[in-house]
Amino acid sequence: MKTLAQIAAELQGYDPQAISASDVQAFLSRLVTPVQTVLGLPLFEALGRVLADDVISPFDVPPHDNSAMDGYAFDGRQLTDGRALELQVVGTALAGRAWQGSVQTGQCLKIMTGAILPQSLDTVVPQEFVKSNAAGDICHIAIPPGIVRAGDNRRLRGEDLMQGKPALRKGELLTPARLGLAASLGLKTLNTWRPLRVAYFSTGDEILSLGDAPREGAVYDSNRYTVFGLLSRLGCQVIDMGVVRDDPALLEAAFTQAAAQADAIITSGGVSVGEADFTKAMMKKLGDVVFWRVAMRPGRPMAVGRILSIKSPPSPGMTGANSSKNNSDSEAAILFGLPGNPVAVMVTFLAFVRPALLQMMGASSAPVPLLKAHSAEAIRKKPGRTEYQRGRVSTMADGSLQVKTTGNQGSGVLRSMAEANGLIVLHHDQGNIAVGDEVDVMMFDGMI
Ligand code: AMP
Ligand code: MG
Repeated sequence: MKTLAQIAAELQGYDPQAISASDVQAFLSRLVTPVQTVLGLPLFEALGRVLADDVISPFDVPPHDNSAMDGYAFDGRQLTDGRALELQVVGTALAGRAWQGSVQTGQCLKIMTGAILPQSLDTVVPQEFVKSNAAGDICHIAIPPGIVRAGDNRRLRGEDLMQGKPALRKGELLTPARLGLAASLGLKTLNTWRPLRVAYFSTGDEILSLGDAPREGAVYDSNRYTVFGLLSRLGCQVIDMGVVRDDPALLEAAFTQAAAQADAIITSGGVSVGEADFTKAMMKKLGDVVFWRVAMRPGRPMAVGRILSIKSPPSPGMTGANSSKNNSDSEAAILFGLPGNPVAVMVTFLAFVRPALLQMMGASSAPVPLLKAHSAEAIRKKPGRTEYQRGRVSTMADGSLQVKTTGNQGSGVLRSMAEANGLIVLHHDQGNIAVGDEVDVMMFDGMI
């Protein structure tokens, strides 16, 4: 496990007073380590979890060559250029049953989609392309020239999955398609990494919990709910610790309890430079923590590090997924000390915390691809910091994508975040944006 000083030494030009967004990501990817406990889960419970093993296909899918169409199967070597092919129909192959019998030259088999193709047949002509005529019990079809080539409309054995080859890879998030793929292999359970436990609390004496009477200068705690939503969508188990007053004893108790139970601790507030409170002091006292001014907007102040957990003996009967941190992988909890402003919390979560948590979950996911859209307006931007602007992407009449900011971009203005469907990412070195310029957008869909 590297210390924060060792990680800092690995990053060229690292400056805690003006750290770039990409250096924050690089720092965090060196700081965190994946969980180690494996849980075998039934498929219905595995959605959103991360695979802990490769899934090797126990058989070929599909298990036989079969027909991709309702039509007639025949030996494609009989096709000749420019001439219709006449064949006698000798039977019908239905899906789910092997047809018994043989098909000779000059003959074909009526076949349904998914039905097994007998070995001697390699081509299917869709039924709508043939002329058929029946005389008594005997039926013939005529295939017009140029309609099919040998091998058409045949699904090959193993074309979906080959026996012995990985069908799914360790580190993949279990999406609906991947669950379906596992089911197509007959698998009832999947080995997944255990879910992360993430503790969250808000700090600040001016923060009210829902149900508290309003008072002058105080605001209701919105961060608790946005962070809860973000963590839940990521499949984390959330340990909600509410609001913790700016009191050293309460803060110490909260950090200690969080570190004992959780893999990661997220706090909001109390990390800005001029902050006259105990939050920063307590982070320093209980762990190895760095305080940054990030070259970004919104979300400049941030604290990151480890809070040491004081081990207590495991409670009896606590095992597996329900066990506390005492039975688990690490003795320190990763700390993400986020700024207090509600939009800064969400932006720093999406830009930094989310990828780090995915890494801790054992996920090998690549960064989310950004969408390109034309800016509907001019945006002022200073090179030398990364800016995230709340925007709405829409599709124009000509099919192109346009993005418009959702108004006041103040770091406390949650309304413009709630109206947005993505964040316009204005990169570190980028300058002003003119109307119509292409910009990158991090879409919320699929993320939150
Ligand atoms: P701080 O980072 O503690 O200086 O807080 C910056 C701003 O965010 C202040 O206006 C706080 O009142 C506000 N703030 C801090 N925590 C929360 C919270 N949990 N919910 C809503 N607003 C908050
Ligand atoms: Mg504060």
